[in-house]
Amino acid sequence: MANLGNPKETIAVLQKYQFEFQKKFGQNFLIDPSVLDRIIEAADITKEDFVLEIGPGIGTMTQRLCEAARAVAAVEIDKALIPILSDTLRNYENVEIINQDILKVNIEKLAQEKNGGRPIKVVANLPYYITTPIIMQLFEKNVPLKSITVMVQKEVADRMQAKPGKKDYGALSLAVQYYAKAEIVANVPPNCFMPRPKVGSAVIHLECYKTKPVQPDNERLFFQIIRASFNQRRKTLANGLNNAPAIPLAKEEIIEVLKESGFSENIRGEKLSIEEFAKLSDRVNMRVN
Ligand code: SAM
Repeated sequence: MANLGNPKETIAVLQKYQFEFQKKFGQNFLIDPSVLDRIIEAADITKEDFVLEIGPGIGTMTQRLCEAARAVAAVEIDKALIPILSDTLRNYENVEIINQDILKVNIEKLAQEKNGGRPIKVVANLPYYITTPIIMQLFEKNVPLKSITVMVQKEVADRMQAKPGKKDYGALSLAVQYYAKAEIVANVPPNCFMPRPKVGSAVIHLECYKTKPVQPDNERLFFQIIRASFNQRRKTLANGLNNAPAIPLAKEEIIEVLKESGFSENIRGEKLSIEEFAKLSDRVNMRVN
C-alpha cells in the first residue's frame, strides 16, 4: 500500500471503495504531507510510545503514527471506513482499529491495558463538531496523558491558547490551561483537506502538567466560578457571580470577597489569571462552608 497523505493516493483509495463523505461525522481528510510531518514532529512520538488516534479516516496519519510509535489504537466511528483501514494499514502489526464513538470508549481502561497505565499520547485531526467534549473528556476522566496534539478549528485553537485580557480568553482557555501548556504549532488552510472545510484550522500541542499550575481547595467551585464569570461577558465579575445559582452568596458578600482578594468591585472575569481565579475560588469556598 502506497503512503497516503497526498491528493492522488487519497482519491485512488476513495474511488476504490466508492467512499461517500459523511458530513455529520466532520470528515475532512488531510492531503498535505508537510502538515502530517508537522503534526508528527510536534507530537514527538518515539518507539516507546502508545498513541491513541481519534478518527483515523482512511488511515493517512495512522500510517505515520505506526512508523513512529510502539503501538497505536485508532478509534473510528464510521463503519464504512473500517474495511478501508484494514487495507491501508495492512502492512502494520502495531495498530488496533476500534469501530466506536470516541465519547463512549473507556480510554482509561485502554491506557491501562495497552500502556500499563503510563501516560499516553493522543494525536488526531479531530472532527470539529465534538472537539471540546473530546478534549474535556480526556482531561476530566483521569486518563493518564502525556500530551494531546490535535488539528482543530483555528478559532478554537486561539481560545485554548489565549492569555488573560485577550479577546479569545474565556472558560475554554482556563479549562485547558488548568491541565496543560497549550501551544499552536501550525496554522492550516482549507486547501490542505479533502473536502475543504469552511473554516481555517490549526494544530495545537497540549503538554499535560504533572503538577497542575494551581490547586484550588474546591475544584468544582473553581470551575463554577469560571463559567459564571464568562457566561455574561459584558457584565462585571460581581454580577456574573451574583446571577449564578451555583454560588450562594448575596451581591454584598461577593463584593466583599472580591475586595478581600484584592480586586475592584467592577473587575471583569476576562482580566483574571488562572492563579487569581484559584485565589478567588478559595475565598468563596471559605465563605460558603
Ligand atoms: N485522520 C483523518 C485525516 O486526517 O485524514 C480523518 C480526520 S476527519 C477530520 C475526522 C474523523 O473522525 C473522520 O474519519 C470521522 O469519521 C471520525 N469521527 C467523527 N466522529 C467521531 C467519533 N465520535 N468517534 C470516533 N471517530 C469519529
